[in-house]
Amino acid sequence: MRNRSQETETKFIKIQCPKCKNEQIMFGKASSKVACLICNKDLADPVGGKARVKARVLEVLD
Ligand SMILES: [Zn+2]
Repeated sequence: MRNRSQETETKFIKIQCPKCKNEQIMFGKASSKVACLICNKDLADPVGGKARVKARVLEVLD
């Protein structure tokens, strides 16, 4: 079953760290853990080949 709300996971997304407010770009389908470049907080975990984003998504980039 497809979940249309998951489509952002195949694109680049701009996220904001909830801790230090740093903004950075990550690939929505990241296969490894994504950490904040400033404070090193975990921002996304790989789950089943996709990234589960724990940060705030500001923008989805094409
Ligand atoms: Zn941070």
